[in-house]
Amino acid sequence: MTPARTDESGRIRPLGAFVANQIAAGEVVERPASIVKELVENSLDAGAGEIRVDVEQAGVRRVRVADDGGGIHPDDLRLAVARHATSKIASPGDLAAVATLGFRGEALASAASVSRLSITSRHRAADHAWRLEVEGGEERACRPAAHPRGTTVEVADLFYNTPARRKFLKTERTELVHIDQVVRRVALAHPAVGFSLRAGSRSLDGLGPGDVDERMAALLGAAFVERSVAVDESGAGLRLWGRVAVPTYSDSRPTRQHLYVNGRPVRDRLAAHAVRQAYRDVLFHGRHPVFVLFLELEPELVDVNVHPTKDEVRFRRSRDVHDFLFGKLAKALRDLRPAQRADSRPATGGGHHRTPGRDPFGVGTSGAPSLARLFHEVRDERPPAPPPAAHHGGHLARSATLEVRDAPPGSAVPPLGHALAQLHGVYVLAQNADGLVIVDMHAAHERITYERMKAQLLAGSVRRQRLLVPVALDVSGAEADFVETRNADLRALGVVIERNGPSSVAVREVPALLGAADIEALARDLIADLVEFGATDLVRERQERLLAGAACHASARAGRRLALAEMDALLRDMESTENAGQCNHGRPTFVALPMAALDGLFLRGQ
Ligand code: ADP
Ligand code: MG
Repeated sequence: MTPARTDESGRIRPLGAFVANQIAAGEVVERPASIVKELVENSLDAGAGEIRVDVEQAGVRRVRVADDGGGIHPDDLRLAVARHATSKIASPGDLAAVATLGFRGEALASAASVSRLSITSRHRAADHAWRLEVEGGEERACRPAAHPRGTTVEVADLFYNTPARRKFLKTERTELVHIDQVVRRVALAHPAVGFSLRAGSRSLDGLGPGDVDERMAALLGAAFVERSVAVDESGAGLRLWGRVAVPTYSDSRPTRQHLYVNGRPVRDRLAAHAVRQAYRDVLFHGRHPVFVLFLELEPELVDVNVHPTKDEVRFRRSRDVHDFLFGKLAKALRDLRPAQRADSRPATGGGHHRTPGRDPFGVGTSGAPSLARLFHEVRDERPPAPPPAAHHGGHLARSATLEVRDAPPGSAVPPLGHALAQLHGVYVLAQNADGLVIVDMHAAHERITYERMKAQLLAGSVRRQRLLVPVALDVSGAEADFVETRNADLRALGVVIERNGPSSVAVREVPALLGAADIEALARDLIADLVEFGATDLVRERQERLLAGAACHASARAGRRLALAEMDALLRDMESTENAGQCNHGRPTFVALPMAALDGLFLRGQ
């Protein structure tokens, strides 16, 4: 069906309210989950303590959100569904410092224009409720109703009057997944509010009010809380808090990554980049970190009015935000030493949710403790021993596979303990104050070598190498300008790029360490990073990747026999090395089995 051209004159006319609303609705209401998000946000803005979400047919037939918040004044009921009508902001000044989730005053109007919508609300000061019914944006009825304090909004027959949009909906299953995700994302940031989500006869989520760790455990699994570190850092007007999983606890898809800016769930490329950078050299390739992070800053420093769905923001000082995120997270990850328990929590942390979660490694067997859950659980709180003078690579012991000895009596036991033996040339067995420590010799050595090489790299300035034939690339005029102004920064990174035309640049020198890397691709990525993030880690990232490869080759190969002194030296080196909990590929370097875990294996004392 082609739209009829009703006016051939080409003159401009204002759109009728109905069409205008439908166009606007297209931006806000993409699918049933968008309705759920807007309604739940309204309930939160109204100060609800309990929010119930019910959907039928994955929200297409009906979405109902009920809350016990402050309610809507009877005189305002009609305004609630009017476009650009809101109780949340009043002046341009308010818009610059939005403290509520909503502020655009268009969600209900949009939903009302593409559905049959009703609002039943009892205002905190009213003695009974009112119910307003709207169909395709037209009021149908407004009358007294029975309802406890709070508000219930029902959106039925979504897109009944825009069949074309209805066709864009995915299967019920998919739409339900989206709804579930929306509720989870919101619920994570509001642990004090109870949430429930029901789909038909199925109850998907019931979340009682609790503290933030309990909420995280309920939504991301208890294993996440156990296998993550708490972060709480402030500086430069920014605060970052939440939990980030240890690198060995990661996902194959970036699904459990939650970032909130001033309590608002957002998708942000800049922040995502900063997090990726922080995990860069501790995460196995192709794996994705798991985290829940709350970034807080003065509302004036962040623009939330970027998109009608409000899930994007713009930072006024984006470079600062990027560097802050990266710096604090990298520090948190660096601090994961063997001497520290990976599941350390802030002193203020509340009730601990200890229901065993799904074992992410699938190695847990009934009865026996799962090895995966015991990673990093060395409980010695003493500071790590100073780096030893001893070095490996001395004489090779020609011992049998198992070489056994007693721990030196009376001496203070370092976190990773004293070596007892080597198992099949692959693992070092050590005894510490708590029990047994098993070290993957190659993985551990690789990490130590890598960190050393990295330190050397950082200490010296980056050595550049002149290209015999400069590599020319076509860029936009703006990018060429940019290269010109950022020459010094690029040089510091070991790259010399010069402008050689209105829209072309030439790469003349690159870091020596990179050798014959794909220079054109590197330069393009470098410029793109600098333009978008104001900073780039690409050169360092590539150099580090090369180092990691070199370190791997230079490290003790499995199968090599070590003397006890060499094994001890390795353990001490691990204790004094950053990121020693995992190798360069994100595999764990050691596993600790406290006596209690061993006792469990033998059903002792049960
Ligand atoms: P916004 O949230 O941007 O203000 P909406 O269209 O979502 O715009 O809602 C319009 C107004 O209706 C809100 O400003 C608020 O005053 C009122 N309202 C909507 N939902 C609720 C609710 N659950 N409880 C109380 N008031 C509500
Ligand atoms: Mg709203």
